[in-house]
Amino acid sequence: MQDTGKLKKLVDWMRESTHTVIFTGAGMSTEAGLPDFRSKTGLWKAKDPRKLASIEAMYKNPEEFYEFYRMRLATLGEANPHQGHKILADWEKRRIIQAIITQNVDGLHHRAGSNRVIELHGTLREALCLKCKKVYGSQVLEGGGIPRCECGNMLKPGVILFGEMLPQDALYQADLESRRSHLFIVIGSSLEVSPANYFPLQARDTGAKLVIINMETTIMDEQADLVVRGKAGEVLVKVDDLLKNNL
Ligand code: NAD
Repeated sequence: MQDTGKLKKLVDWMRESTHTVIFTGAGMSTEAGLPDFRSKTGLWKAKDPRKLASIEAMYKNPEEFYEFYRMRLATLGEANPHQGHKILADWEKRRIIQAIITQNVDGLHHRAGSNRVIELHGTLREALCLKCKKVYGSQVLEGGGIPRCECGNMLKPGVILFGEMLPQDALYQADLESRRSHLFIVIGSSLEVSPANYFPLQARDTGAKLVIINMETTIMDEQADLVVRGKAGEVLVKVDDLLKNNL
């Protein structure tokens, strides 16, 4: 059951806030047909993420590694932003939110029209050479075999793998936005992946209200000022209706 009282409280906070930051995880995109990693039907139920999506796996077991990424790219090719992504893009234009920090690598926020998107974990839409740093479109990962750069080195998907550092600029921007925020809304993240899960706490510790929207419980529910249980897209549609109808 979704508590309308909670949604109204969230809308009041959104109206009062002068700097609202959205933080999204894989659960933001499950309604677009992309499986997440950790919920009941997530991708990781069959395989251990640290073994499959790691820099170690890329070198030690490249066939399985690239097969996994080809499968993810094929799924991504069929996915489109859903209403929730579009509402977030509209909120940016209406200055209701100031930034999106995302752990997602699917590019759906950009495709929905959002501009201020900080991608903490890179993007599935590119591949790069770790040696000469040349960047390619992700189509080089399609087809069979091990994809190689023109310099001969193995190509890596543009996503951050387990065992890799997060991009410095994205970390800096996310830190800035978290500290600036008056309201910080987490949508569809288990909040189990570090260091990304540091930002909601950083926001709260520097004075922001912390809101969590998720279908299941998360490890930070007790630290949040408000927890809304529900599907990302459905909750966003309801919140948008309340905002538009001045309720
Ligand atoms: P996660 O898989 O750890 O957690 C997903 C969370 O979303 C769960 O708590 C689940 O209950 C919730 N959820 C699922 N569907 C939902 C819905 N419709 N509405 C609301 N909540 C929903 O994901 P995470 O926290 O983002 O962290 C794991 C990693 O997943 C990140 O590193 C990210 O790069 C990667 N990832 C990204 C994608 C993507 O880009 N679409 C897909 C899979 C994994």
